[in-house]
Amino acid sequence: MQYVDEFRDPELAKTLLAHIRHKVSAIAKASERPLQLMEVCGGHTHAIYKFGIDQLLPPEIEFVHGPGCPVCVLPMGRIDGCIEIAERPEVIFCTYGDAMRVPGRNGSLLDAKRRGADVRIVYSPLDTLTFAEQNPDKQVVFFGLGFETTMPSTALTLQQAKRRGLTNFSIFCQHITIIPTLRSLLEQPDVRIDGFLAPGHVSMVIGTTPYGFIAEDFHKPLVVTGFEPLDILQALAMLVDQIHDGRCEVENQYKRIVSQQGNALARKALDDVFELKESSEWRGLGSIAGSGVQLTPAYREFDAELRFNTQEHQEVADDPLARCGDVLTGRCKPNDCPLFGTRCTPQNAFGALMVSSEGACAAYYQYRRGLA
Ligand code: SF4
Repeated sequence: MQYVDEFRDPELAKTLLAHIRHKVSAIAKASERPLQLMEVCGGHTHAIYKFGIDQLLPPEIEFVHGPGCPVCVLPMGRIDGCIEIAERPEVIFCTYGDAMRVPGRNGSLLDAKRRGADVRIVYSPLDTLTFAEQNPDKQVVFFGLGFETTMPSTALTLQQAKRRGLTNFSIFCQHITIIPTLRSLLEQPDVRIDGFLAPGHVSMVIGTTPYGFIAEDFHKPLVVTGFEPLDILQALAMLVDQIHDGRCEVENQYKRIVSQQGNALARKALDDVFELKESSEWRGLGSIAGSGVQLTPAYREFDAELRFNTQEHQEVADDPLARCGDVLTGRCKPNDCPLFGTRCTPQNAFGALMVSSEGACAAYYQYRRGLA
């Protein structure tokens, strides 16, 4: 198949694996512990386990599954806020499908739909503007969720809503940014990460420049990479080359998509619509300064929480047995959690890392359950 097969060539994979093994064996002689490499993005986690990349690598490489899945870090209190709005009789609440099953204190958006709320799954936020135009007697609310990957489409939708003069459209904003979160992770004294595979989709928007502090301030190597098996293997080869040579640089394996400066048009739309919030809560990670966004004054009329004057939903602590936060910071693997595969399964998820198709626990459950 054109455009896919060339990124799954077994001979090229063998060559890259031989290179990685050779470099890692030299590093291992000088180190007493395995290399811990964080794949920041849930899309990479799934690709690594789906294609068995972890099983092909030498045991001296361990993956740490990072916080780059927006559904996995979605706090329960924010789901409670969505449900408070969705259950109002005048509201059509629209969301991406992967947020439907994330549990809050009063169940999930799917539970709210079962109770009678008008909750609809959309593939593009622009569809919600059509709903608003077709239902002038209703309030249409879009759940804006995700990193810089999905933020531009929410921003363009808001610009369209303003242009069209829609007064029955608003968004519940849960957009978050990856850079402050990586800094916060690196500032934690007991988190040990030797290098990063950085997310391809987010980087397509923000470019490679914002990662510079990871190399300069924290002296860690980083490679931006794509999602096909050869992308990931090539990025791993670049990462172990840096570690072997004692270099800490930001490198870009995904040049066919990602540039140094990112997408200027998308960033312009983000600057128009969003501004950084003082602090945002992340499930399992706590509050992180400057890690989330809110609407700029020019777009604040579209803020659903202001429009419906919602309550401030409290932070909700996870079950003390759940280890979602430890998985997100690399302190343990999903199958170290006592709830994994028992109280927490994809059918009956306790934590969001099991709900989302990009969650590390869902990846382990789907591809490595027999090893648990
Ligand atoms: S198995 Fe469930 S509760 Fe445990 S860390 Fe994973 S998502 Fe969280």
